[in-house]
Amino acid sequence: MNIYADNAATTKVSKTALDAMLPCFAEAYGNPSSPHHIGQEAAKLLMAARETVAGYIGAEPSEVLFTSGGSESDNQAIITAAVLGARRGKKHLVSTKFEHHAVLHTLKKLEKEGFLLTLLDVHEDGLVRLEELEAALRPDTALVTVMYANNEIGTIQPIKEIGAICREKGVLFHTDAVQAAGHLPINVKDQNIDMLSLSAHKFCGPKGAGVFFVRKGIAITSLIEGGAQERGKRAGTENVPAIVGMAAAFKEACDNIAENTPKIRALRDKLIDGILKMDEVILNGDREKRLPGNVNVSIKGIEGESLLLMLDHVGICGSSGSACTSGSLDPSHVLLAIGLVHEVAHGSLRLSLDENNTEEEIDYILEKLPPIVERLRSMSPVWKKMKEGK
Ligand SMILES: *Cc1c(COP(=O)(O)O)cnc(C)c1O
Repeated sequence: MNIYADNAATTKVSKTALDAMLPCFAEAYGNPSSPHHIGQEAAKLLMAARETVAGYIGAEPSEVLFTSGGSESDNQAIITAAVLGARRGKKHLVSTKFEHHAVLHTLKKLEKEGFLLTLLDVHEDGLVRLEELEAALRPDTALVTVMYANNEIGTIQPIKEIGAICREKGVLFHTDAVQAAGHLPINVKDQNIDMLSLSAHKFCGPKGAGVFFVRKGIAITSLIEGGAQERGKRAGTENVPAIVGMAAAFKEACDNIAENTPKIRALRDKLIDGILKMDEVILNGDREKRLPGNVNVSIKGIEGESLLLMLDHVGICGSSGSACTSGSLDPSHVLLAIGLVHEVAHGSLRLSLDENNTEEEIDYILEKLPPIVERLRSMSPVWKKMKEGK
């Protein structure tokens, strides 16, 4: 059996998205900036994609910029807010300890350049406290950026409430909604969002395409200078096939949220319940306020990397959640942020499901996982010490 349970890392491109993309390579292959008919065919597809994406997030088409993905959109949002803030003497930025590195590294870079940074705690349940957020805001705060759903432990933040607090205090609010998109409702108006990031490959679209939503009236600082594409704010010939595929995938995912969510959630809950039957296993992140497809556990006494290899041998693709980039042995900053000690963080496993997973697959995982864990523990000095210490 081959089981893909790593949908938080990337997803399989849906047939709908693929079918939408193919004509962009062979027929509407023109440059959308060209006035001739082949270019204008591409321009039409681009406009339709913009309208689709805007419609599904409650935005105007003119507020949607296409980018190369989630990382670029995150960088773009933070730099934009930093430049606007600095012009008015506001150099304080607020975020959380467990953001994606596209956010954290951009913030750290700005900190080196003289910005002041407050990173909020996310507590052991992986959730920001609104009163702590409110208390962190100051007259010189230029930006609050808090992710909608976390990519490792799947916890969902109270975005609308955070947005309301920011609005009231006149602070720009950005959310990295990369993991939420296609799984949770997004409406930038209802949720008081000023800027938002999406990435196509996390909702069954192609890699290398993303969305940067920026509310009307917010002056964007370009990261890429050149031609007048994307309202002159993001130069470079548009990746029309990927953008068209992204819009098709996003529409499909959003149209099917109501149908898919209970199905995926049931698989997730069965998997969590089954895994928690093992000894000395903890679920990371709040059980209820989490993405429908996210399972993240720490299995004490084992190494996540060895576990992953053994799972791969029996056809199961997961993620260790202990190291962000393979080859790095640093435990995940997300797991440390929720208070796990290094030893426990190293034994973490993330299985992320989507609508393509089945109950048979969950049964198979639950059949294969416990004996593998038992084998690894039988060879583990850490486990031995733990058991003897009791
Ligand atoms: C994947 C991911 C990103 C980066 O998106 P790319 O399109 O791969 O650059 C950013 N934020 C979160 C939460 C993600 O899961």
